[in-house]
Amino acid sequence: MGKESPKRKEFKCTKMLREVMAKHFYELDEAAKTGSKKIAWCTSVGPAELLRGMGFLVYFPENHGAMLGASRMASELIPFANAIGYSPDICSYLTSDIGSFLRKKTPLQKAYNIESVPRPDVLVFNTNQCRDVYDWFSWYGREFGVPVVGVFTHRNIGEIKDYHIKDISKQIQDLIPALEEVSGERFDMDRFKEAVRLSKRTSELWRQCLESASAVPSPWTFFDATIHMGPAVVARGTQEAVDYYEVLLAELNERIEKGIGAIDGERYRLYWEGMPIWGKLRALSTQFAELRTCIVASTYCNSWIFDQLDPDDPFDSMAVAYTELFIVRDEIYKEKYIKDCVEFFQCDGIIFHDAKTCPNNSNSRYGMPLRFSEQYNIPTIVINGDLNDLRCYSEEQAKTNIEAFIEQLQERERRSSTVV
Ligand code: SF4
Repeated sequence: MGKESPKRKEFKCTKMLREVMAKHFYELDEAAKTGSKKIAWCTSVGPAELLRGMGFLVYFPENHGAMLGASRMASELIPFANAIGYSPDICSYLTSDIGSFLRKKTPLQKAYNIESVPRPDVLVFNTNQCRDVYDWFSWYGREFGVPVVGVFTHRNIGEIKDYHIKDISKQIQDLIPALEEVSGERFDMDRFKEAVRLSKRTSELWRQCLESASAVPSPWTFFDATIHMGPAVVARGTQEAVDYYEVLLAELNERIEKGIGAIDGERYRLYWEGMPIWGKLRALSTQFAELRTCIVASTYCNSWIFDQLDPDDPFDSMAVAYTELFIVRDEIYKEKYIKDCVEFFQCDGIIFHDAKTCPNNSNSRYGMPLRFSEQYNIPTIVINGDLNDLRCYSEEQAKTNIEAFIEQLQERERRSSTVV
């Protein structure tokens, strides 16, 4: 099976993607140099709409963390954060990002000729994803001597209750005085609602893009989506992000209409649960393509769908959107969520990535893979690795395990055709 190496099919809109991402970084760099606009750093699922609505340019350190991983600079930089007391066992976005700052080395230099990440005027977090983001931002707060404010969220939520929403909504509103003090401007409700509207529209389009992978063959893979999700993370709440996803969605639909699959001869479809292994995306993408296997969906890429946002009820709807997130929920909710996705995207199995430094986004540690195979008859595999720290990842072992998993799917297919 799969002797020749299939080529990844590029999207025509990749050029536009690069332009959107470049504009994002050049604007921040310009503002940091000239002071023309205030800059807020924000966690990836933090209250970005409020910040945009209050006129801040928004920078996302986790996006920088992913760039450090994808450029494979992370493993070299992590030890510098370890040396100042940040453990190798905690989030490797955090350790590689702080290491990058300490060493004054960033992938922005090569990609955009930008010397350093933009200096923040304020750092704004939401602990909905983990506590690490708070510690991460607190380090920079001390380093730059700027305020660190944010939302402390509920965790392991089953059913979302009114009191969850009221609490988070109030915490978001309580950020306003501190942000006004930094921005020097009064909060403007209309501008905020407009940011929420644009963010909602971005999310609706991003959802449609992701759901297009339910087509058989799928027009794109998880590996494509990890690249094209950039604007959903860094530019949600802007017209640029909306424009970009309209174009991407049209291209995905065009592929579906023409029957063009991302993987020629798509044979198996899988669900990816957990963080990407940023430094090995290309190698994994090639291996799966050779195995005629398309990873059609993932919890990770779905994490930037916030279509519960409502410009007519901006605070409460933000509270809902940022509390309904998969990562905030309990094990029962997560299991059902993944099962529904597996059915919707017609997956043959699930890959669980157990990321050593991110227990928050690793769901294989409390029996879930076994429950999927035993209760639902859905084959699963667990790959040990990490989002950024490649010292935690054995490529050879992962490769062998993936091959064995696909053989298991083949065997299963053979058995079921014999039974028929
Ligand atoms: S969720 Fe995981 S990867 Fe993301 S910031 Fe938290 S620990 Fe790091």
